[in-house]
Amino acid sequence: MRVIVVGGGIVGAVAAYRLAAEGAEVLVVDAGHDGQATAAGAGIVWPWPIGEPSLGTADFWWAAAAQYPILLNQLASDGEPEPGYARVGGITITDDESGLPEAATMIRAIQQRDSSVGEFEVLPTGEPARRFPVLRQDLAGLYVSGVGRVDGRVMRDSLLRAAERRGARQIRGEAKLVRALSRVTGVEIGGEVIGAHAVVVAAGAWTATLCQDIGVEVAVEPQRGQIAHLHLSGVDTSDWPVIRSMSDHYLLAFPGGKVVVGATRETGSGFGFRQTAGGVHKILSDALGVAPGLADATIEEIRIGFRPLSTSGRPEISSPADGLVIATGLGPSGLTLAPLTGTIAAELALGRQSSLASSETR
Ligand SMILES: Cc1cc2nc3c(=O)[nH]c(=O)nc-3n(C[C@H](O)[C@H](O)[C@H](O)COP(=O)(O)OP(=O)(O)OC[C@H]3O[C@@H](n4cnc5c(N)ncnc54)[C@H](O)[C@@H]3O)c2cc1C
Repeated sequence: MRVIVVGGGIVGAVAAYRLAAEGAEVLVVDAGHDGQATAAGAGIVWPWPIGEPSLGTADFWWAAAAQYPILLNQLASDGEPEPGYARVGGITITDDESGLPEAATMIRAIQQRDSSVGEFEVLPTGEPARRFPVLRQDLAGLYVSGVGRVDGRVMRDSLLRAAERRGARQIRGEAKLVRALSRVTGVEIGGEVIGAHAVVVAAGAWTATLCQDIGVEVAVEPQRGQIAHLHLSGVDTSDWPVIRSMSDHYLLAFPGGKVVVGATRETGSGFGFRQTAGGVHKILSDALGVAPGLADATIEEIRIGFRPLSTSGRPEISSPADGLVIATGLGPSGLTLAPLTGTIAAELALGRQSSLASSETR
């Protein structure tokens, strides 16, 4: 069976890997657009739902949390033991300790449901700064050990390499969908038509435009995110935890003195691939507000990515026409939800019903 995967971000890479592992003949097509979300994503993997999730159902998040270690194990046994993931724990910081006991009760409830949440600890004032030394001293927090970080570029490349070893091919090009009557029969790239039994569209924020051409509406739009990569010279940041504040901003570290802070969430941004004065100001002032120890860090890079923002409130994972599978809409959580989403997409492309998240699939 030949399957074409349009989009080589994290979702397309998971789908391609799964399909190749099932013996399908896989071709991954990527246009190389500026602003691939996977290449810009911060990398927080904090998968358990607390209360009603803002995207999809709680069951979907539980299934996604379960799928992550399965994928990591499969990659390891397929020659990719270091796909950029590390379980470093995460701290939700606050300058008001009074809410922490209630937060701890909520974490205890989800810990009882899924042991991968790990241990949790209420951290007294000053303790977060001991574990993430650039933070303000007057912050308290709640620590959860099961939180991870992933370098999206490394994970994407590991998946694509593992898929290639199982026979998948990759090409660069902008694909258009080819439809004959009610069936999608392949793609057209630069005037050349390539046929397939199924096409998986994992084209992120670009999915709606691509599908519109054949009359299929997908409820997804680009949401620009700007994010800063800072460098602390001579500091071992390899096991610093993920830091999340009570509002939307966060900090996380990678080995080699790298600290990533972000990010803007610019709904309605369109595809303007540019840094803005307001965006950069916001991410840096939010970061320095909680972590003044970063004031002397070197600004290495501002990354820009277009999150595929679902306007329906749920991930867009479906087969709306014969031969066509859509897998997108993961918004700010795609590095967390992609292992499940790409797996469901592969199942649908192979003509199977997905028991993993049928409620998300029309
Ligand atoms: C600043 C920022 C921070 C984030 N932080 C986190 C985080 O901490 N944790 C988390 O879980 N998630 C995070 N995310 C979200 C996550 O990065 C995305 O949800 C996820 O990467 C989306 O992956 P994707 O494969 O759907 O899309 P993308 O990675 O955008 O890939 C889509 C690909 O499709 C290709 N394409 C488009 N049209 C065509 C076409 N016609 N033909 C061929 N190829 C095409 C594009 O070139 C692109 O490479 C963040 C995102 C941003 C921007």
